[in-house]
Amino acid sequence: MARTRKPVVPGWFTETEAGTGTEAGTGTEAGDGTEAGDGTEAGDGTEAGDGPGPADFRLLGTRCGACGAVFFPREDFFCRAPGCDGTDLTEVPLSRRGTVWSYTDGRYRPPPPYVSDPEVPWQPRALVAVELAAERMVVLGQAPPDVSVAALRVGMEVELVPGVLGEDTETVWTTWWWRPVETDGAGETDRTDGTDGAGRPNGTTGGGRDL
Ligand SMILES: [Zn+2]
Repeated sequence: MARTRKPVVPGWFTETEAGTGTEAGTGTEAGDGTEAGDGTEAGDGTEAGDGPGPADFRLLGTRCGACGAVFFPREDFFCRAPGCDGTDLTEVPLSRRGTVWSYTDGRYRPPPPYVSDPEVPWQPRALVAVELAAERMVVLGQAPPDVSVAALRVGMEVELVPGVLGEDTETVWTTWWWRPVETDGAGETDRTDGTDGAGRPNGTTGGGRDL
């Protein structure tokens, strides 16, 4: 009866061994240790202890050893940066937090590999484009089921949490969700429009096809 947890896109995020992913982070999910040593990555210190959430869950991109460009979805063979012929690409965990760059209501049923039952009416889901400042990129993802577009606004801080894209009789398909960080007053509400912000998408935007 036990269903296997499988990432809907292998290698795009750290895999969680336990937890349903459908619940708010309890902070009790034990890391599997594979992320040890990434302490050099986050570095801003603002994440420590200020909220629940599985701290070890991260999206995985790659960084070019020649020019430093970061790619997500991961690029494992050739750097795509203009003018760079780097082939030394190293896996790097992406920032756990970002700000909402844009969002929309997913009122259509996504194509495969999205797992959904065509017999069941499609439930709209909020899709969020999140700007990661350190990586200077925008990463798409769903919001958790209990977060509608009404709860989102441009500039709001969100964090990465494990999610479930769908389930069938044998498999629980795991993914990532962007969840608003519950810190009242911390939002950057004075940003009027993500398109004016610094760090425009640099061509590494991705993931939308597989939502
Ligand atoms: Zn490069």
